Amino acid sequence: MKEIILVKYGEIILKGLNRPIFEDLLIKNIKRALRGIAGVDIWKAQATIYLAPQDPADLGEMVRRLRKVFGIVYIVRAYVLPKDMAAICAGAKECLAETLSAAGSFKVECKRSDKKFPLKSPEVARELGAALLEAFPHLHVDVHAPDKLVMVEIRDTDAYVYCDRLAGAGGMPTKSNGCAGLLLSGGIDSPVAGYMVAKRGVELVGIHFFSHPYTSERAKQKVLDLAGILGAYTGGMRVAVVPFTEIQLEIRKHCPEEHLTLIMRRFMMEIAERITRKNGGQALVTGESIGQVASQTIDALGVTDAAVTMPVFRPVIGMDKEEIVQIARRIGTFETSILPYEDCCTIFTPRHPSTKPKLEKILASEAALDREPLITAAIAGTEWVTV
Ligand code: ATP
Ligand code: MG
Repeated sequence: MKEIILVKYGEIILKGLNRPIFEDLLIKNIKRALRGIAGVDIWKAQATIYLAPQDPADLGEMVRRLRKVFGIVYIVRAYVLPKDMAAICAGAKECLAETLSAAGSFKVECKRSDKKFPLKSPEVARELGAALLEAFPHLHVDVHAPDKLVMVEIRDTDAYVYCDRLAGAGGMPTKSNGCAGLLLSGGIDSPVAGYMVAKRGVELVGIHFFSHPYTSERAKQKVLDLAGILGAYTGGMRVAVVPFTEIQLEIRKHCPEEHLTLIMRRFMMEIAERITRKNGGQALVTGESIGQVASQTIDALGVTDAAVTMPVFRPVIGMDKEEIVQIARRIGTFETSILPYEDCCTIFTPRHPSTKPKLEKILASEAALDREPLITAAIAGTEWVTV
């Protein structure tokens, strides 16, 4: 029996006159995600995207990839049946046999978008329910908590029957909401922060500050690997690797030790802002969480923010480490994030960082540096990597 994939989306439906723009973008992103799978027919109708592969053996891989496409609320593998009640009953018995044999209870629900179909939804559900009970007498109907929910959709051209619907990644289609620069370290937090903003349809440009030779090639590769994991959700990602050692050495040489981290962070923000702006982005994203470390106290975050004029998004700001870790595990970045390669910040960390910094004092400390040439040189030395 023919199987196809139905993709359902949520928020996009609320976009009124702009809805086709979002739908077309989602289809474009789906096509990109399915690149390499030959001959997939894709069309949209009635708030659903249909995907029919040439080779049914591709269905599994298609679902696996679709689960990483933002904008999809759920994905179903549905059997295609003729729009005729007897055919629906006969087809459902056959294609759901395996699933229903293993279940104890079930319930049938019908959605009828073709209002010309002679039976109304409750009638379709009742008839199919009776037919399935007859075919699988071990089953009973449970309308509140069924083991299996059998769905029938009566649509334009065909009827579709399925049991399981898989959750999609949710959110909005990539590139539907502008672009942001993600300050990406090798830690746990910044990949999660990037994921959360990307999920809302924001394209990300990764920006990594690299402190060669204080940090190794392996540490850089780890960051690129993290970008690659995020890129699987966004259709790839570009990463700017910014040489940062010179700036760190200058700060260490000329500024008071307790201000090192914050001055360094302000450099990062300012460089990231310039790179982001040059690449068409409108905001920055960091993995900061209030109080996690000295540079993330409320005063410190204020001092950091003052280095830039772009909005700074910090989606994990109110999360505990454990909550961030949970997301990192779910999205697949955790295992890479905990690889034990050194981070530039740990090498240049002061013993007693100030936790209640005053902006004026930091600015006074910074005055010992000739900032502009340092920033310009770092940007000029930036290496771009596409993952
Ligand atoms: P993470 O787990 O993301 O590394 P963290 O808790 O270790 O975060 P910090 O090292 O203080 O925190 O960094 C705070 C934020 O600054 C990070 O989440 C990230 O957005 C950014 N950041 C830190 N180091 C770098 C770096 N080397 N390159 C790019 N961004 C960085
Ligand atoms: Mg870090």
